[in-house]
Amino acid sequence: MKRLTKQVQNPTQRLSSQNLQLQDAVRQFFIQLGENPDRDGIKETPKRFETAIKYLLGGYDRSFENENKLFDNLTNYKDIIILKNINFFSMCEHHLLPFYGYAHVGYIPGKRVLGISKLARAVDIYSRRLQDQETLGNQVAEAVMKTGKAKGVAVLIEGRHLCNAARGVEKNHSIMVTSIYSGKFETDINLQNKFLELIRERKSI
Ligand SMILES: [Zn+2]
Repeated sequence: MKRLTKQVQNPTQRLSSQNLQLQDAVRQFFIQLGENPDRDGIKETPKRFETAIKYLLGGYDRSFENENKLFDNLTNYKDIIILKNINFFSMCEHHLLPFYGYAHVGYIPGKRVLGISKLARAVDIYSRRLQDQETLGNQVAEAVMKTGKAKGVAVLIEGRHLCNAARGVEKNHSIMVTSIYSGKFETDINLQNKFLELIRERKSI
């Protein structure tokens, strides 16, 4: 697996409550647009933007190590465990526009298994940051592999990118698909195919 370790500064440190500098930056942005920042519709927008962006980028304050819980693999389960259709919202770091969709995460446990919600948490933690889709998949895979002590991890992400839909080539129905395979999945094509087959199953429960 290609390792993409980013030097992550912590933007939320600069986004402490009532960050007036941030709010002023939004006001300046309005002025650059030729807007009146004091008109009724937008005068409270800098504050609202601060609240919204702190929520959307709240993953910087969280770590998978802290939120992870492992249980003994009492049945010696050796097959793939998958949590699929994990919806996510993230922010494209190139255009500061949202991208969103579904992540499917599968892993083969070792002596320990992860609480199933922890796979969703991994997706949440890393998607609530400035991201690109490839890095998001890599970071989720790396977290489950290392912290989850897995023997192999597969992550497939289907994302719709507003920077692709609302601007640029304006392809609003295009979906970007990325996949990451690590550990046992990396070289075993049969295992990769099994994962793909299992996440494609669309039977409702
Ligand atoms: Zn973009």
